Amino acid sequence: MLNLAQLTHRSYIIDNVTVVDPKKNTTFPGHVAVVDGKIDAVERGRAKEASLPIYDGAGLHLAPGFIDIHVHLREPGHEYKETIATGTAAAVAGGFTSVACMPNTLPAIDDRSVVEFILRQAKFVGLAKVYPIAAATMGRKGEILAEYHELVAAGAVAVSDDGSPVASANMARRVLEYAAPLGIPFIEHCEDMSATGEGVMHEGFYSTKLGLKGIPAFSEEACLARDLVILRSVRGARYHAAHMSTRGSVQLIRRAKDEGLPVTAETAPHYLCLEDRDLETYNTNLKINPPLRSAEDRVAMIDALKDGTIDCIASDHAPHAAHEKQVEFNAAPNGSLGLETTFPLIMTHLVRAGHLTLPQALALITHRPAECLGIPGGTLARGAAADLVLFNPDESWVVRAEDLHSRSRNSAFLGHTVSGRVKHTLVDGVNVTASPIGV
Ligand SMILES: [Zn+2]
Repeated sequence: MLNLAQLTHRSYIIDNVTVVDPKKNTTFPGHVAVVDGKIDAVERGRAKEASLPIYDGAGLHLAPGFIDIHVHLREPGHEYKETIATGTAAAVAGGFTSVACMPNTLPAIDDRSVVEFILRQAKFVGLAKVYPIAAATMGRKGEILAEYHELVAAGAVAVSDDGSPVASANMARRVLEYAAPLGIPFIEHCEDMSATGEGVMHEGFYSTKLGLKGIPAFSEEACLARDLVILRSVRGARYHAAHMSTRGSVQLIRRAKDEGLPVTAETAPHYLCLEDRDLETYNTNLKINPPLRSAEDRVAMIDALKDGTIDCIASDHAPHAAHEKQVEFNAAPNGSLGLETTFPLIMTHLVRAGHLTLPQALALITHRPAECLGIPGGTLARGAAADLVLFNPDESWVVRAEDLHSRSRNSAFLGHTVSGRVKHTLVDGVNVTASPIGV
């Protein structure tokens, strides 16, 4: 058998793997045939056919490539934090074959030329597939709607002012109305800025103890509740709530889904395994927006993933340069890296902790996020692109700054021991982890 690290064919078989199919909720020993960069067959047992070259999966687990619908690639405008090249290198290192990038770039993704630039650059780099999320309003200022028709024609898959909420109820209504006929979701960064004020961490016992200004849970919940009320009155709209972090938000989404509203939601790995009390170190890499919440909120997020109230997990990968984070807590920008730690954190805190089975957990970063945005991928269906990940679920490793592929180093998880390591990431049947970065 051939070595997968030296994959050169376009049509081949990967043998000797444990197939994990999140959509079918199954795990079995098998092999996968890829023809011209597409999945041709996924079968149980060892490969018998000899008409295609056979590569050795070396006993690894094989799953659909992961999909992250909330990343900040920072290009154009903030290339000192991250570029499309370094961001997608981090993506494939973390097992992600598709990422959707947020519009808080400079300029914002509010013009078709910016969408086209991102798609061109992503194609040139040739690592993960990139799906641009356009700004909901010009310059993300909340004043004038962006030209959705043009942006979608250029390749945008959703609209959002992420980084900021759409602040006014009237504008939120218009965003939903204009997005509806195009079939694209409005992704809201749920935050009432008047409630956040000068806050820098979750409002509660620990904000008092640490002497830091608090952000109440209702900063997130008030914006979400407002949007859900508006959503009732806009026919055909789709609404996706980004980075949910509180128990109250979970209750709101649960009720909205019971009511039949077209709402989906994501949370991020840090809300599943970190809490406000972890800020006792004043580590600015743990300064994130929305902030790390209470222990009760953390448990509520895990429960919401188990019962399907929250549809998927997205990293909210938010690179910042060292000099920006190495300041006093109040002055540091919000955000943590996420692309290279999301999968092992899910393995460690959801699968090994006994909350979800492996296929259930991988559904949260494969077909479920794809369905939230209406983008392809996340399945092992015949004819789908051979976007695949091979990993060792049991390998334990320590997150170290020097091993990260991102241009920045601001991971909230530096020094954490995690389980689950990505070994190969294949995009359209090409092993991109084995090839040098294009730029
Ligand atoms: Zn956000």
